[in-house]
Amino acid sequence: MTGNLAQNYRKLRTALDACAAQSGHPVALLAVSKTHPAARVAECAALGQKAFGENYVQEALGKIAELAPLGLEWHLIGPLQSNKCQAAAEHFDWVQSVDRAKIIPLLAKHRPAHQPPLNVLVQVNVDGEASKSGCAPAQAADLAARVAAEPRLALRGLMAIPDPATSGNGLAFAQMQRLFRELRGTYPTMDTLSMGMSDDFPAAIAHGANLVRVGSALFGRRGP
Ligand SMILES: *Cc1c(COP(=O)(O)O)cnc(C)c1O
Repeated sequence: MTGNLAQNYRKLRTALDACAAQSGHPVALLAVSKTHPAARVAECAALGQKAFGENYVQEALGKIAELAPLGLEWHLIGPLQSNKCQAAAEHFDWVQSVDRAKIIPLLAKHRPAHQPPLNVLVQVNVDGEASKSGCAPAQAADLAARVAAEPRLALRGLMAIPDPATSGNGLAFAQMQRLFRELRGTYPTMDTLSMGMSDDFPAAIAHGANLVRVGSALFGRRGP
């Protein structure tokens, strides 16, 4: 289902507003545009959407360049290899997938001086087996400390991708909410808990997510 983007966007906004009202906190939308061409992103931007998420640095660079006049905000949400840190630091506004110590000084070193600090989320692998990326929950505090120590990085919070097949029960989201609250006590710049996708955003928001990453419910199902 490709669907009608404007219709999908209105429906999603209404659903997010309802979840936000019920949970009592505002919720921002990251439109996940991976595999979709720049023209679709532009179409979505014309509806009022500002923040877009991409999984692959290489795929994103072309869209970021092409759409630069629109002044959009770009988030890297896919696994980040060391050799892509420079491009990520130069072209993205946020990196949500920081999950190991090695890439932190690389991102800091390559963040251009004329740009504001790169916004960073520490990605946590909250349900172990389901996803290969993300740090163990017990490592999140150490990674947060390393990010916070870099002046060219801004520690903004945590990101998680629990398996949507089981995330509906809320256990993984609740664990993330506890971890987020605990770390925010130490790092007050942490204001973002990124979790929830097309199939599980209501449960994520109920457990404190204030940034949801939605792809298929907006742009339609991606190809095989
Ligand atoms: C693809 C992707 C999404 C969006 O998933 P949908 O189910 O299409 O909404 C969100 N977060 C990450 C990290 C993704 O890779």
